[in-house]
Amino acid sequence: MTFEQLNQKLTELEILLPSETIEKFKIYSSLLCEWNEKINLTSILNEEEIVEKHFLDCLLPGQVFAFSKRTNLCDLGTGAGFPGMVLAIAYPNLKVTLVDSTAKKFKFLEEVKSACNVKNVSFHIGRGEEMKSFKEHFDIVTARSFSALPNILELGLPLCKIGGTLVAYKGEKGKEELKGSERALDKLGGRLLNLQEASLPSGDKRINLLFKKEKKSPSRYPRTWGEIVAHPL
Ligand code: SAH
Repeated sequence: MTFEQLNQKLTELEILLPSETIEKFKIYSSLLCEWNEKINLTSILNEEEIVEKHFLDCLLPGQVFAFSKRTNLCDLGTGAGFPGMVLAIAYPNLKVTLVDSTAKKFKFLEEVKSACNVKNVSFHIGRGEEMKSFKEHFDIVTARSFSALPNILELGLPLCKIGGTLVAYKGEKGKEELKGSERALDKLGGRLLNLQEASLPSGDKRINLLFKKEKKSPSRYPRTWGEIVAHPL
């Protein structure tokens, strides 16, 4: 998919973004290709794939969820900025916090921030399960290719305000993962709000799961990563 086709697709989906968005994505994409030769950021290597499998993919939930009406967003395990940096560029109203446990990814993200003049993004180097001081802080928490759904819920729901939304970007196994997450949702005070089924132009199936945080998550969550992995909710 070319940038021109991305622009058309977003119009078709009624995802309306500031006029400079595509120009900023072009800069982001060329930096991604350049940096990927130095540090491993993505397995998606050519520009046409980056446009579809990173930019379009990250923006899809905008079809069913009004990002433009919220304030604070946290992206867990952002890697090269997906979806958090993309959403920060697309929705300048958001205050986006990108979280990742690997410090070297932030060198790349710093450069994207400065080259694309992204003012509404800040960085948190650390583990999602250790963000105790951010409990109930965010209107939106996002995660893509991060972990199994119960783990995303355990890290993400405690960070959401009551009434806030967690957006888990999933692939074709999304529905099965949802079935296996009832216990986690019940314990953490979340409820499924929307299940978005979509296909990327190349055919990849995407299932995005949007959850509402209805009740305060018990203070013992999230547990340590060791406990989470040994005994998933
Ligand atoms: N969201 C990105 C990257 C996915 S790879 C994308 O969709 O392309 C998963 C990322 O999560 C890696 O960058 C890894 O460093 C980070 N990560 C793994 N466990 C983490 C944790 N407990 N807290 C924060 N980041 C974590």
